[in-house]
Amino acid sequence: MPDLPRTADVVIVGGGVHGASLAYHFARKRAGRVVLIEKKFIASGPTGRSTALVRRFYAMDFLTRTASAAAEIFRHWRDVIGGDGDPGFQKVGMLVIAGAGEAPHLQRNARTGARSDDRPVRARRRDPDGRVEGGRRAHGTR
Ligand SMILES: Cc1cc2nc3c(=O)[nH]c(=O)nc-3n(C[C@H](O)[C@H](O)[C@H](O)COP(=O)(O)OP(=O)(O)OC[C@H]3O[C@@H](n4cnc5c(N)ncnc54)[C@H](O)[C@@H]3O)c2cc1C
Repeated sequence: MPDLPRTADVVIVGGGVHGASLAYHFARKRAGRVVLIEKKFIASGPTGRSTALVRRFYAMDFLTRTASAAAEIFRHWRDVIGGDGDPGFQKVGMLVIAGAGEAPHLQRNARTGARSDDRPVRARRRDPDGRVEGGRRAHGTR
């Protein structure tokens, strides 16, 4: 195990995506000596097992705002983070299928997500035979 510094200005426990992000932002704000402590190895938890889907809308507005801000960082990685690294981000769109009970919640979340970045989000209803009954644009076009 490497020697840990005896003092630090900021100590972050956990080398998942949140800990790594915190370390990055503290360092960027020149918050002093930042130490990230990980008990196994970096991304050894769920972060390393993530399917890496970047969603822009969630049921909680706070998550929609933060996820959308994170998506912008992925989109502009070179400008924001710099260096030669490439997160492999690709904008491929997303299809979510919901049953009748969940559809209203999904539509509400899609509308909120669309408001947060003015991106086209469409909610379409299908009948039990799979026919699309008609499209309804939740918000915004580009
Ligand atoms: C199979 C799977 C697929 C997923 N797919 C997606 C996806 O497509 N899109 C998405 O947005 N999210 C996805 N998620 C969720 C996402 O991966 C997690 O929400 C996110 O990685 C959590 O990050 P975290 O930094 O909060 O925690 P973690 O990744 O759990 O990191 C915490 C770290 O802290 C360390 N730690 C814990 N206790 C201590 C301690 N006492 N001392 C030192 N270190 C400690 C752990 O070893 C771990 O490395 C997925 C999750 C899983 C499991």
